[in-house]
Amino acid sequence: MTTIKLLPDLLISQIAAGEVIARPASALKEILENSLDAGATDITIRLAQGGIKLIGITDNGTGIRKDDLLLALSRHATSKIDSLQDLENITSLGFRGEALASITSISRLTLTSRQPDEKHAWQIHAEGGQLSDPVPAALSSGTVLEIRDLYFNTPARRKFLKTEATELAHCVEVFKRTALSRPDGRFTLQHNDRIVYELFPADFPHRIAAILGDEFRQTALPVNEQVADLHLSGAVALPAYSRSARDQQYFFVNGRFVRDKLIAHAIREAYRDILHLNRHPAFVLFIDMAPDRVDVNVHPAKTEVRFHNPHALHQFVFHSLHKILSSPSLHAPTPFLQTGVISPVTTENPVVYSRPGHQNSMPLWFNPTAAQPSPAAYHTDIASSTENRYSGVTATAITRQSENEEIPPLGFALGQLMGIYILAQNSDGLIIVDMHAAHERIVYEKLKSDMENHSVAMQSLLIPVVFEASSLERLLVEQEHDTLHQMGFDITALSPTALTIRAVPAILQDSDSVRLIRDVLKEIDRFGSSQLLAEERNHLLSSMACHSAVRANHALTVTEMNRLLREMEVTERSGQCNHGRPTWFSISLADLDRLFMRGK
Ligand code: ADP
Ligand code: MG
Repeated sequence: MTTIKLLPDLLISQIAAGEVIARPASALKEILENSLDAGATDITIRLAQGGIKLIGITDNGTGIRKDDLLLALSRHATSKIDSLQDLENITSLGFRGEALASITSISRLTLTSRQPDEKHAWQIHAEGGQLSDPVPAALSSGTVLEIRDLYFNTPARRKFLKTEATELAHCVEVFKRTALSRPDGRFTLQHNDRIVYELFPADFPHRIAAILGDEFRQTALPVNEQVADLHLSGAVALPAYSRSARDQQYFFVNGRFVRDKLIAHAIREAYRDILHLNRHPAFVLFIDMAPDRVDVNVHPAKTEVRFHNPHALHQFVFHSLHKILSSPSLHAPTPFLQTGVISPVTTENPVVYSRPGHQNSMPLWFNPTAAQPSPAAYHTDIASSTENRYSGVTATAITRQSENEEIPPLGFALGQLMGIYILAQNSDGLIIVDMHAAHERIVYEKLKSDMENHSVAMQSLLIPVVFEASSLERLLVEQEHDTLHQMGFDITALSPTALTIRAVPAILQDSDSVRLIRDVLKEIDRFGSSQLLAEERNHLLSSMACHSAVRANHALTVTEMNRLLREMEVTERSGQCNHGRPTWFSISLADLDRLFMRGK
């Protein structure tokens, strides 16, 4: 016979702790949230042995009244909500009233706090759930919480702890998230009495630099998009600054760090065409929306949320980032001067520099309202002008005094370097273009839009090319005749062992047609043509583009170079090649002057 009993309070809290306090870092997350909810702007964390021995926090928040100290450590006690309606409109980070009770049940804890109107602070101590009465203590204001010997009374759980270094790394990650979400806060982190981080109130770019490094900041594009009551802000890094792991991906919903598959998918999609498959984007993004449009009460750890309209949100995030990342003249970072962001020169967008430590300079995205590089009007002008307007050697004779309006963003070609790079001059200085990478992107984007519009131009070959083909290749040519035709190929079987190519896509006419068609057939065989999904089709077009792109050591005339530059300016995503590498860099005259110490 089984008997049913109510569990003792301590055990209930220990069970809850299993979910909420998985490791020291989860305890740290909860108490950081509490400090922020209490309005703290200055927070110091002290850890010992990766947080296993000690997690201490000192904040300058509102403090807790003497009479509430015991309650704060009790289960289901919170000052943050008191009705279902509140639960559906959460504006605080905490609301479940269980974190401190859970921590109390599995640690030795001391809580000291003082509200402004109290004569002195009060302190309580708890050990394995046993609470002491408050005693007077010394503290000028705010709250100090010390959690010692986490899991001292739950040895089974303690066994799951990893090394001190691993637990510390998790704590540091929690710290970083918090600091990123509140650039205006002051945060200090100490471990074993050594300072790991000391962050002073800063603006968002400086906070990003402090947490994720200056390279991230320099290659970051600002995000500031609003549709109805959805607001997306923050920064996404250029594809050139991609990562081999998902270690710099931060997404916050109403200030709360969350993991969400849907959002991750939307971001991934936005990068799809400009990032190599094995690379991961880096970003710090904040989405803000009315609190009743997102349910945060999904899991005790509160890192999962449920959106009321997930589809709209996915579209919004995807389109916002896609637009920003598709800009033709996405600015490239300076490769060796390491001085900061060089934005594309457009008539609306004069050059802005950022130099660490330079007070008067601001990177483009210091000002959230500053327009993104959007030289659309200018480009239309270039596109509609006669093709040779910027071609020819005269064109290169520009000087610093020239009117900005006369000089296109990527300038005019000066010549070719080592058969690999195009050197050009714009109103700001020197532009260096990897001609193979740039051309590949241009051809790829053209193939994509032509395919979408069913308008791939064919070029008949003067002399049809006959080649020996495998039986699989012949079979595919037969089966996929229509698809191949749509892609711009006219290819037929000549004999049981040979195929004839009569026409190829016009844009690829200079490539080796046999190698090209063999590659295309291989891809079609891999994916099957009939329902080529966008991603697979793009992969195929991207490898086709590879065939056509100008090779190294291919001499271009100045006219051809200028044409390439003009095409880059009107081609989406032309700042990166099809594999996510940058296609151009800009070195301003000011940077060159500094390099040569002119004016010093
Ligand atoms: P919750 O945050 O969900 O309310 P907790 O168990 O984390 O639950 O905290 C219980 C209560 O203790 C909070 O509602 C808050 O009133 C109080 N509290 C906790 N930490 C602090 C702090 N650092 N400053 C002021 N009040 C605090
Ligand atoms: Mg809390």
